[in-house]
This record gives sequence, C-alpha cells and structure tokens, in this order.
Amino acid sequence: MSLLAEADHTKSGPAVRHRTVGVMIGPVQVGGGAPIVVQSMTNTDTADIDATVAQVARLARAGSEIVRITVDRDEAAAAVPKIRERLDRIGCDVPLVGDFHYIGHKLLDDHPACAEALAKYRINPGNVGFKDKKDRQFSMIVEKAIQHGKAVRIGANWGSLDQELLTHLMDLNAAQPAPLPAGAITREAMVQSALLSAERAIEIGLPKESIVISAKVSNVQDLIAVYRELARRSDYALHLGLTEAGMGSKGIVASSAALGVLLQEGIGDTIRFSLTPEPGGDRTLEVKTAQELLQTMGFRTFVPLVAACPGCGRTTSTVFQELAGDIQRWIDASMPEWKTTHPGVEELNVAVMGCIVNGPGESKHADIGISLPGTGEAPAAPVFIDGKKAVTLRGATIAADFKALVVEYIDRRYGKADRSAAE
Ligand code: SF4
Repeated sequence: MSLLAEADHTKSGPAVRHRTVGVMIGPVQVGGGAPIVVQSMTNTDTADIDATVAQVARLARAGSEIVRITVDRDEAAAAVPKIRERLDRIGCDVPLVGDFHYIGHKLLDDHPACAEALAKYRINPGNVGFKDKKDRQFSMIVEKAIQHGKAVRIGANWGSLDQELLTHLMDLNAAQPAPLPAGAITREAMVQSALLSAERAIEIGLPKESIVISAKVSNVQDLIAVYRELARRSDYALHLGLTEAGMGSKGIVASSAALGVLLQEGIGDTIRFSLTPEPGGDRTLEVKTAQELLQTMGFRTFVPLVAACPGCGRTTSTVFQELAGDIQRWIDASMPEWKTTHPGVEELNVAVMGCIVNGPGESKHADIGISLPGTGEAPAAPVFIDGKKAVTLRGATIAADFKALVVEYIDRRYGKADRSAAE
C-alpha cells in the first residue's frame, strides 16, 4: 500500500465556525460570520480625559477594533462623551464600550450623553444588583440600551459569579442521589448566569441581534468547558477571554492555549487578552498578542510576520537574531502607513534564518527570505524571492541590503511606499 493511501490532508485548518447571530458594535460586526474581532480595554481613569483619549487612540492604532473603558462613577460617565468627541476629532472612530458594575443603571440614567456616546454597555449579571434590586437594575440598563439603540454584553465572571444562582444550583445538586463535583456546578452556574440574563434581556425587548455574551474564568480547562457549553446551548455572539490571565509569558501562554482550542473548534466571535502589564508597560501588548494568535492560526492577517529559526550551536553570532528583530520592528512601525499605501502587505511572509541547514528551504517558502551564514560557512547570505534564489549578499552591510530588498519587494508587489514612513 502506498504511504499516502490512508493519508487525509484535506482537514487542515479550523473547524467550521459556530453559527452565531451578528451584532453591530458601532461600525464593527461581531458574530454572524464576520471575521473574529480583536478588542482591548484601557487601564486609565476614564475621568482623566487626556490620558484615556491617548490610550484609546494608541490601542486603536495598534489594531484594537473595539475598546472598552471603565465607567464607575459620575466623573467617568461625564467624561465619556468628551472622550468620544476628542477621538472623532482626531479621526479615531473605534467604538467605545462602557464597563459598568453595581451602579450602571444610575449612571446611564443620569448621563444620557454617556449612554449615547457608547456603542455597547457591558454588564455583569453577578453584580448588577442584589436580591429584589437585581431584576429592576438589570432591566433599567437593558431599557437604556433599547432606548439608545445600543448593544449589550452580558459578561459573567468567575470572580463575581451570581451567588444566588450558584447557591440555588448547589442546593439542587446536593439533593441529587449522586451529586456532581462542585467545580461542575460552578461552571454550570456561569453558563446559566449568562444565558438566563440574555433571555431576560430579550423578554424586556432587547433584540437578540444586540446581545453578546461572555463567561470568563481564569482556568484554561474551565474556560474551554464553559464556552463549549455556551456554544452548544445558544447562538449568541460570543466574546472570548481568559480573565486575570496574568503577567508576561504566563498570561500570553494561558490565553493563547484557552482561546486557541476554542477558536479551532469554531467557537468565538471576538477576543480579548486580559494581560497584566508590567508597571509602566505597553498596554498595546494585549492587542498585538490577540492579533498574532488569530494570524498564526490562519483566521486573519494583520501584519507581515517574520519567520526566524531559534538559532543553535551553528550560529556563533547574534546577527540573525538582530536582523529578525530589526525587520519585525521596522515592519510593525511601518504598518499604520502601509495599510493605506500598500494594501495587502499584511500577507507578506519574511524569513530570516541562521544557517544552511533549514535556511534555504524555509526562505524559499517565504515571499522573501535570507539564509545567513552559520559557523564555518562562507560569509555569504543567499536571498530567495518568490521561491527562487535572487541574489547573494556579502559583507558588513548584509542587514541594510536585505532591508532594502524587502522595501523593493513590497513596493513592487503592493504599491509604492511613502519612504519617509517606511524608513
Ligand atoms: S537553521 Fe541552522 S542555525 Fe537555525 S536552528 Fe536550524 S541548524 Fe540552527
């Protein structure tokens, strides 16, 4: 039997997307077959208009298609229409989502300009109010959304789970002949909290086409289980995110693992990486990592990515790491301009490889790639363009020469660049 007789290579790629109802968040569609949307959240005091405008603009420039801001008190609610106006004035039309907890009903009622300026209200069914106030306050927020024609995200969260619902389900479970583990009941409470609240919003009159739901937890396996269940039981547009993912590589790895599994199963319409930045760190990292996850999984393309080998004992210099990093940073910095001057450039593949072992092969797979000389190799670096060897670079200016070739390639394939922006 041929080696390939039983091979089936037709199934590469993600599962068919889970079918959800499309929701418009300002000009951006979430769900309903739209591309998976990247969103982020500010960490400025919303009452500080200058700082919030600057951070929203930075996040939007980095590629965040929706930005959420905290609306926690009167000063913040009063600032929201001014923030919207300032963003519009600088040509930043990214939709703003208001994050409300505890007193959202009151803030939206007292600040109609805030209610109007936001594209979506995020409410947490676990802290919208308690006991007899809960239903009334939830209804008030939903009615405001209906009045202003806005979308609502019903965002349950593990850390503020509806305790009445959880207690009720725990009691029911305890009365069973074979009770389920407490973790299973907590996950069920998360799912029910989101779905029952969405049903209640529909009863009040909010269209299904205005509802996004989320149920965020901080454990990867729990998150996967909860979202699989939400997708199985409903067709609401789903916002994915691992809450309190953490700092540095831990937050990135945990979020990527959880979201990657779900996205591969066709679950999820918009994503957020809840990364904890280093003090003074760059908030746009959460946008970049979300984009890279979607791009590396083949869902969307945002920015040309540089493939680079990890390096090994065959590379005694740091030239190739420096070149790979330099090229990626230069591409990232040039992208805001190139998006308009070079449409399609986000699909470019660049390879920077450390030696002859995999260098020529990997470089041939890229649109443009360079194989740098490893230890003991002749000091020559072949460059491959569209799979063919185009030129061999030598000498101290290899890095600058390769960069010039990339610029030439981009100009030729995607249109003429504004060099002042590219260099
Ligand atoms: S391409 Fe060469 S330098 Fe890079 S990891 Fe492979 S063997 Fe090492």
